[in-house]
Amino acid sequence: MTFRIHSRLIAWNLLVVSVVSFILAFFLSPSQLALVILVAASLTFTFSYGVRVLISRPLHHVSVVSRELAAGHLEHRLPITGDEEIAALGTSLNTMAQTLNAKIQQLSDGKQQLELILEAMGQGVMVLDRDGRITLTNSAILKALGTDRDLVRKTPLEAFRRPELENAVRAVLAGKPTQVLETTVGTGTILQASVTPVTNVSGEVDSAVIVFHDLTDIRRTDRMRRDFVANVSHEFKTPLTSIRGYTETLLSGAKDDPGIALDFLRTIERNAQQLEALVSDLLTLAKLEAEVPATREHFDLQSVIEEQIAARKNSILALDIQVTVECPVIQIHADRSRLSTALSNLINNAINYNKSGGQVRLSAEVQNGTMSIAVTDSGNGIPSEELPRIFERFYRVDKARARDSGGTGLGLSIVKHAIESQGGTISVSSKLGSGSTFTIRLPV
Ligand code: ADP
Repeated sequence: MTFRIHSRLIAWNLLVVSVVSFILAFFLSPSQLALVILVAASLTFTFSYGVRVLISRPLHHVSVVSRELAAGHLEHRLPITGDEEIAALGTSLNTMAQTLNAKIQQLSDGKQQLELILEAMGQGVMVLDRDGRITLTNSAILKALGTDRDLVRKTPLEAFRRPELENAVRAVLAGKPTQVLETTVGTGTILQASVTPVTNVSGEVDSAVIVFHDLTDIRRTDRMRRDFVANVSHEFKTPLTSIRGYTETLLSGAKDDPGIALDFLRTIERNAQQLEALVSDLLTLAKLEAEVPATREHFDLQSVIEEQIAARKNSILALDIQVTVECPVIQIHADRSRLSTALSNLINNAINYNKSGGQVRLSAEVQNGTMSIAVTDSGNGIPSEELPRIFERFYRVDKARARDSGGTGLGLSIVKHAIESQGGTISVSSKLGSGSTFTIRLPV
């Protein structure tokens, strides 16, 4: 309005000067008229300059800053100049920009915080609009799906290829309460999905949120526990059935034949020993799995090896095995009991799966703070395709031979636990027909 008034004043001014000059032209000489026009022109120029400095320039600033603010550059401020009205306009504009800036900052802080919380969550989160299209995902769900694709605007069916999830989302958006379902995605990741409706202020469902819990590990552990119970039951059943069968036969008359009775009693004794070994190995494994930290002490490695060989003197003699030990006298710092357990199982296997008259060699050294002990035998070796599985519980390569030799199928899994619980590793190399080498590496 101020600008309009001042513009009109300039226009009126010019009009008055022109009219007065025209009238004066009849009364004044040309030189006097020229002087009057010059004076009038100077006055008009000064007046318009004043208008420009006081009104147009500040208004131009207002227009430039308004455009910057509209473009989102809220840090721009107007210099407070010009007449009172324009200065007031500048102050209001500056206050508005400041308030807007603070509000937007607040909103973006809130959004950033929300995004950080979503990213920090272990659970996958997905938000869908009223058409069932994804509007937001966090990285946990992308990780579970094994993708870094942008899923925004896709439907759950396009993202997961699981119709059950799509159906649950459709049901929730149609007014059904929270749906919970289990689904398998990607390369076997098992997810529990809770699809929850989100209502707007008028109480209508206008979006849905899915929270995913990764159940893969829980389900795997469940399956392992079930398999373990089934395996243990099977392992117990075989010797127990044998003991029961032989006992019944003895009771129903075989006891009267001393030759047969002795033979049956020996079989019963062998099966009872097998059960005892099984219980003992199960207890050892349970102790190792109880996650009790290793107790380290200083001891001489050679003495532990000698002890384990001495404990197997009878079977070494019976099978005519030649045992050699290459171990310097070294003090190491490790869990003595767990190392003895591991060595005991490896030496047992090296003897049991050897040929009569074969060799077992134990060599140990410490290099750069790592102790390595290699147990080498001259047995039949292990087929390369079986090697990855021999550390699994109850896995046996030659089942009949393993049982005959009193093996429980738990020895190598005990070795693995006993060594890995101290931060070490166990590895194997084997050649069919030539023998195997099991190597323990342990930081000492
Ligand atoms: P087991 O109590 O039956 O010996 P282990 O867990 O100690 O169970 O070993 C698993 C299987 O690996 C054995 O049944 C056997 O078939 C094979 N194995 C282990 N050590 C040797 C070895 N030194 N030579 C040949 N086969 C072996």
